[in-house]
Amino acid sequence: MVQGICGCPRDNLCDDCLARSMEWLGGTAASRGYGWANSVARRRPGLLARPWPALEGRAAELSAAKVIDLTDDRRLFARLLERLNAAAVRRWDQLRAGEEP
Ligand SMILES: [Zn+2]
Repeated sequence: MVQGICGCPRDNLCDDCLARSMEWLGGTAASRGYGWANSVARRRPGLLARPWPALEGRAAELSAAKVIDLTDDRRLFARLLERLNAAAVRRWDQLRAGEEP
């Protein structure tokens, strides 16, 4: 769990701590998104006919569950969610283009 480096509350990080935490945790979120896309492609290869789902409804819930453990801060959570999703979309597009999962 990330603490505010300057002593700010970890569920209400200041801008500096938010940026630094994103440097630490952004890669974790991205690698989870990458791995998630791979795992979906292995389990449900038929889904590769479609684009990665938009970040809403059930897909948003599943995505949120994959980064919820990383932070108590709402702004950081939103950024990590975006990072996870962007990595999943990027990987999904590679898989749709024919790369092996
Ligand atoms: Zn701070």
